[in-house]
Amino acid sequence: MGAVDCHCHLAAPEFQEDIEDVLEEAKQAKVLALVVVAEHSGEFGRIMQLSERHPGFVFSCLGVHPVQRTPTGQERSVTLKDLDEALPLIELHKDCLLAIGEVGLDFTPRFASTDEQKEEQRRVLIKQIQLAKELHLPLNVHSRSAGRPTINLLKEQGAERVLLHAFDGKPSVAMEGVKAGYFFSIPPSITRSEQEKLVKHLPLESICLETDSPALGPEKQVRNEPKNIFFAAEYIAKIKGISLEEVIDVTTQNALKLFPKLKNFLCK
Ligand SMILES: [Zn+2]
Repeated sequence: MGAVDCHCHLAAPEFQEDIEDVLEEAKQAKVLALVVVAEHSGEFGRIMQLSERHPGFVFSCLGVHPVQRTPTGQERSVTLKDLDEALPLIELHKDCLLAIGEVGLDFTPRFASTDEQKEEQRRVLIKQIQLAKELHLPLNVHSRSAGRPTINLLKEQGAERVLLHAFDGKPSVAMEGVKAGYFFSIPPSITRSEQEKLVKHLPLESICLETDSPALGPEKQVRNEPKNIFFAAEYIAKIKGISLEEVIDVTTQNALKLFPKLKNFLCK
C-alpha cells in the first residue's frame, strides 16, 4: 500500500517545466494518488488537463482560495466576484471532481485586516460549502489564523466530509473538528514546525497525509514535491510510537473514507 497526497498544487508555475518528471518520481516513491487543489479560476484548465492526462493518479479539486493574487503578484482577500467567475467552470467540470477546494478562511492581518474582508471570506466559503453539498463532494479546506471560525462555520453550514489541511490552530480546536468527523492532513513541514502537540492529540483515524507542494516542504525555501510525503509519515510514526507502515496504511484508508471516489481507482 502506498500513500495518498491529499492536498498539492501541481498546476503551480513552479512545476511548469518538469511536472511529468515530478509525477514519475512520486510514482516510484509509492505515492498512490495525488489530490490537486486550485486557488483561483485561472488555473482550473491546467488542473483538469493534468488529471485527464493521468487518470487514476491525479485527481482534481476546483475551488476559490480565501487569498487571491492580483495580476501584479500582490495578495489580497477573496471577493464574491472571484467566486462568480469560477462557478460556471466548476459547474462545467463537476462530474470529474474529487472535491471542492481549496476553500477556507485566512485571517492573517496582511490579507484580512477589516471585518468586511473577513465577512466576505465567510460568504465565499458558505457558498462553496453549499455547492459541495449540492454536488455531494467533500471539501479541501485551508485555515490560517482562523482555525476556530473555520471549523465553526463548517459545522454551522452542515459540512460533512471535510479535510482541514496544514491546520495551524490549537489542538483543542482541532478536536472539535475530530468530533464532527473531519480529517486533518499533515504536511512534510511538520518536521520543522511547532505542531508536535497537534499530531499527538489527533487520533490516527483522523489523520491524512499531504505535501501542499510546492509549499510546506521539509526544507524551507526548497520546492516541495509529492515524493516528500514520507517525511510527514515518518514524523507521525515517531511521535505516536508506531510503525511507518501503520501510518501509511491507516492514512490511506482515511483518504478513501474522505474521498469516496478514490475507491473506484485504488481498490481493485
Ligand atoms: Zn494549499
